[in-house]
Amino acid sequence: MPDVKFAYPKHINLANLPTPVRYLSRISSRYGVEIYIKQDEMTGTALSGNKVRKLEFVLAHALEQNADTVITCGGAQSNHCRATAIAAAMAGLDCCLLLRTPDPLNPPETGGNILLDKMAGAEIVWITPEEYKRRDEFFEKQSKILQSQGKKPYIIPEGASDALGAWGYIKAMQEIKNDIAGLPEDKQTAIIHATGSGGTAAGLILGAKLHKVNARIASINVCDDRDYFTNIISNICKKAINDFNLDIEFSAQKDIEIIDGYVGRGYALSRPEELSLICEMAKTEGIFLDPVYTGKAFYGMIKELEKDPKCFGSRIIFIHTGGIFGLFSKSQEFAALFK
Ligand SMILES: *Cc1c(COP(=O)(O)O)cnc(C)c1O
Repeated sequence: MPDVKFAYPKHINLANLPTPVRYLSRISSRYGVEIYIKQDEMTGTALSGNKVRKLEFVLAHALEQNADTVITCGGAQSNHCRATAIAAAMAGLDCCLLLRTPDPLNPPETGGNILLDKMAGAEIVWITPEEYKRRDEFFEKQSKILQSQGKKPYIIPEGASDALGAWGYIKAMQEIKNDIAGLPEDKQTAIIHATGSGGTAAGLILGAKLHKVNARIASINVCDDRDYFTNIISNICKKAINDFNLDIEFSAQKDIEIIDGYVGRGYALSRPEELSLICEMAKTEGIFLDPVYTGKAFYGMIKELEKDPKCFGSRIIFIHTGGIFGLFSKSQEFAALFK
């Protein structure tokens, strides 16, 4: 990459890269716009999705600090926690997960991501939603417990969405730049993806500037609202610019585009129309979206296209950020659609 004038922080190789880009011909002709999918659900098998790109940088730092255990947090069916458990196993680290559940004494069954967490040997500490809001306290508490056992813990924030984790999608943008260069004709491109903890969006925004990729980046939020995400994405971008001395101009107002209005029933809660679209995509294109992130974002993108087929221009790259195991925790809800 001769045009790159910045140094990447250290990373370890965990993901299968580059991921493929596929043209969705039937969906594209249905909506009258070119829709490509960047298949980051193929970064691995159990280790699929976007989190591994961030963990390549974060775990390199944990190893550099001589940590032997990583601690992170998320919802019960967190893809980030599952990816961390598996990446830790690949890197020879132990893993402790703080998982959110309404009743820690009656935790959810060992299905979906939780099964993979346990298989990968992660220690699970269940905490309530109320405790989760004060997760920094619980990170400290768990660190102390591990230290008293002679371990050297390293804390990874929710979603690995911090200035270091953002490098995962700064680097992915280098890949996307090549992907775009390989597409027929030169067309204005919109990159669309689901946002949940802001790190992917921050990386894409910074990456587009650093790699000089002329693309619109639109993030569809799966929880909270536009103001919340503008704020967290902006904070991650500013911290990365500052920590890594990045020579770029950044304006939250100009650079962050949040498409709000598709949270639906709330985080990780599905509406039948979202689940129907997931099935429709599986049937029409053989693409399996997830109920928590990509299904909602794709649904939002389609709804926007139905209002105005040209609202994203003539070419879209939708980033499939993974999450397939979340489907298995919703099998009852899906079953109702097949009746
Ligand atoms: C975590 C996650 C996202 C959101 O990425 P953030 O960087 O947390 O905003 C999107 N899709 C899937 C499948 C995820 O697991």
